[in-house]
Formats: sequence, C-alpha cells, structure tokens
Amino acid sequence: MKWKARYLNLPEQYKSLKKEIDRKMQKVMKEGAFILRKDVEEFENNIKKLLKVKYVIGVNSGTDALYLSLKALGLKKGDEVITIALVPYAVFAILNTGAKPVLVDVKDDFMMDFDKVEKAITKRTKAIIPVHLTGRACEMKRCMQLAKKYRLKVIEDAAPSILAKYGNKYVGTFGDVGCFSTHPMKNLSCAGDGGFITTNNKKLADKLRILRNLGKPGRIESIEFGYNSRLDNLQAAILNVKLKKIKSWTNKRRRVARFYNMNLSDLPLDLPKESPDRLDVWNSFVIRTPHQKQLYNYLKKSNIEVFIQWTKPIYKIKVLNLKNFKLLKTEQLCKEQIFIPIHSSLTNKQLKYIVKVIERFKYHS
Ligand SMILES: *Cc1c(COP(=O)(O)O)cnc(C)c1O
Repeated sequence: MKWKARYLNLPEQYKSLKKEIDRKMQKVMKEGAFILRKDVEEFENNIKKLLKVKYVIGVNSGTDALYLSLKALGLKKGDEVITIALVPYAVFAILNTGAKPVLVDVKDDFMMDFDKVEKAITKRTKAIIPVHLTGRACEMKRCMQLAKKYRLKVIEDAAPSILAKYGNKYVGTFGDVGCFSTHPMKNLSCAGDGGFITTNNKKLADKLRILRNLGKPGRIESIEFGYNSRLDNLQAAILNVKLKKIKSWTNKRRRVARFYNMNLSDLPLDLPKESPDRLDVWNSFVIRTPHQKQLYNYLKKSNIEVFIQWTKPIYKIKVLNLKNFKLLKTEQLCKEQIFIPIHSSLTNKQLKYIVKVIERFKYHS
C-alpha cells in the first residue's frame, strides 16, 4: 500500500538526525560500552533538567517502570490498586505484584474520573495509578487531594506524555513516582524498548536503581531481590541526541492538533479539546464517531494510516481473569475512537489531504 499519510514517520525523523545518531552509535560500539555506562547517566541528568525533578532512573520499558515502582512502594497480594481500563500496562504491572486491579471509568477526555476513584477506595486500597493517556494530563490536583485524604501512593503512568503539564507542572512529578516510555510510538523514542522513572524521593530512587539491576548497588553482588530492567546504553545515546529536538517536535504536534481542531470542528465528530488547566503534548489525536468501522475503512482506503487502538476494555480480555466490571464511558469510547496521524514530520499538504478526506465522508448515510 502506498500511504499518503503514515501514522508515524520514524525514518523521516532518523534522516533529520542521521549524522549525529550514527556518530553516537558508532562511539558506543567502538567503546563496547553497553550496560549502565555514561550515556545512561547523561540521559538521566538530561531528563532531570528537562522535567525539573530530583531523580531519574532509566529502565527498559514503560511497563517495567510501572512494575518496579509498585515493587519499590511495597505493593503485594491483598492490596488493591485503582486504575483505568483503556490500556493494559498498569493492569499487567499490578497483577504481577499479586495485588488486585480495581478499574474505574474515565471521563469524555479519556482521563481517570476521580469521583469514581473516591467511590472505589476500600480499606485495602494502597495506591492509585492515574494514566496520562495520549499525551494529556489527568486532574492531578484532585488526585493528590484524594491520595492525602486516604493515605494512598500515587504512581503516575505518564508513558506517552513527556512534557505534558497540569497547571504549570510536568506530569510525572506530582506523585510518588512517574513512569515514562521511550517505545517507538512515543513522542521521545529510541530504537526499540526503553523508559524511565522520575521521583523526588531519594530513598525510592535508591531502591529503584537497585531493583532495575538484579538487586545490585554495584557491579557484582546483589543485596536484595531484583530484576533485569536496565535501559541500554546504546538506546540512551540515541535518546540524548533526540532530546535536543523534543521541544520543537512537541510544538509541531501542538500545531497539528490545532489545525485538526480548527478544520474539523464543523463535522459531526467528537474532537479532543485541550482544557485551560493543562498542556497537551498530543501523542495521539483521537477522534470519535458512532460510524467507527465505516470511517476507519474509508480512511484506510484513502491511504491514510489510522488505528483503532482501544479495541475493548481490559476487563474483557479473558486471560487476565478480572472481575467483570462495567464501565460505560470506557465501553463507549472503545466503540467510537479512531487514532489519526499526528507526528512532527507531517507536511501541510498531507494535513490538508487528511482534512479533506475526513470532510468528504458520508456521516449520515
Ligand atoms: C506506551 C504506554 C505504556 C507502556 O510502555 P512500554 O514502554 O511499551 O512498556 C504504558 N502506559 C501508557 C499509557 C502507554 O501509552
């Protein structure tokens, strides 16, 4: 298929930084510096400065960032952790600790509904995982109030949302820890899997550093139980190059979102709107229509690469063996959403084409 607009354009991004990325990768190869070497440390320092946070721990994925965080905070069998049901990562991490995921509904903006959170709190609730989905911020003021009132830990799943803000503070810096991913689909991505954890708590940072490296504070001996969840030095080297562009790439995404919101607003579609109390970094642009399948097929046929990503609520995935929740907004969103292209390499010509095609769809037949 010859796409007129790709969902992502990573080769284009690579082309724009090829010289520097190639040079860095060759340096790592020539030095044979692969595990927990200076590019990882440099990356962690870069993120500290960027997000204004005290400690950063590079890890191998957003999912492991969540799992290690839950372990570092002592979550275990018998505990309950509240999160949402649109994406599976936090649910996997919770189940892996032996704790029980308690799933709550979201609001129209895909963000956790904190009224529902408060109703779901029991004596066994130990933590909340608010999910900053699609590059957007949850209502963190409300979240932290609840955490304080009921003495709960807060693990922010900020995986796709680097540089998103609630008020004037970056997501991932409100709770006990923030978990991020550098998977190829994210705004800041490496050449495979990667991620990092942010925290302002020194004790937690020390613990996470040991947990990611088989319980080892140094090179040889383990002093406690641990995992192999390190961020590769080669990935860190690539991330350090791309970090120089993250602000301009984010601004481009914001311009694309504004273009879509302006040019599609007369159509019978639900568009993702930015609210004044937050800054959205638009990892995804998710439109909604009751004609999901028809519009999806029509866009594909017009050579626009689109996705239906939230295929069903997580509690309907049989192998996870979860209680059958019934979250009405979550179910509605699954039936209506389509992810359309948003990235920093989209040209004006492509954007105009996408808008024109979406305009020409027969919404009422
Ligand atoms: C991508 C993503 C993750 C998982 O990150 P990985 O690095 O793929 O493990 C977790 N949560 C959310 C909201 C994500 O978008």
